[in-house]
Amino acid sequence: MTFKALFVLLPGIQMLSVQPDTKPKGCAGCNRKIKDRYLLKALDKYWHEDCLKCACCDCRLGEVGSTLYTKANLILCRRDYLRLFGVTGNCAACSKLIPAFEMVMRAKENVYHLDCFACQLCNQRFCVGDKFFLKNNMILCQTDYEEGLMKEGYAPQVR
Ligand SMILES: [Zn+2]
Ligand SMILES: [Zn+2]
Ligand SMILES: [Zn+2]
Ligand SMILES: [Zn+2]
Repeated sequence: MTFKALFVLLPGIQMLSVQPDTKPKGCAGCNRKIKDRYLLKALDKYWHEDCLKCACCDCRLGEVGSTLYTKANLILCRRDYLRLFGVTGNCAACSKLIPAFEMVMRAKENVYHLDCFACQLCNQRFCVGDKFFLKNNMILCQTDYEEGLMKEGYAPQVR
C-alpha cells in the first residue's frame, strides 16, 4: 500500500497522494484510471478530485469545507442531502412532523403536508394556479380571506 493519507477532509473523504510507482487505481466516478498526483478516497472507493461530486448540483465534494453525504447510492453535498432527505419541518397546519421524502407544499417559510394544504376555514383544496392567502399563519381561500377582511371592516380592493 503506497497511498498515504494527507489529511482527512471530512469524515468520509480522504485525500491521498499517489506514489508514482503505484499501479493507477480506477476512479469510481468515471471508471478511468487515476493518473493524478492526488486522489480522493471516499466510501472505500477512489476518485479523481473532479469526479467526486454531488449527484444533484455537481459541486465538487473534495474541497475543504464540503461535506459528503450518501444515501440510496447517491453522493450528495450537504445542501442537497438536506433538501432531499432532511426532515422537512413541522406542518404549519397540523404541527406534526413532516418526514423526509414526503412531498410538501410551501407558502412563505411554512411547509404543509400535501393533505393539510387546504383552506383552514372551509377545507377547500387548492390546485396549481389557485389563489390562496396567508393570514395570521392560516391558509385561506380567496372567499374566506375576503370575508375576513370585510368582517374586519376592510373592503377588498376591487380593481
Ligand atoms: Zn474520474
Ligand atoms: Zn449538491
Ligand atoms: Zn399537516
Ligand atoms: Zn375557504
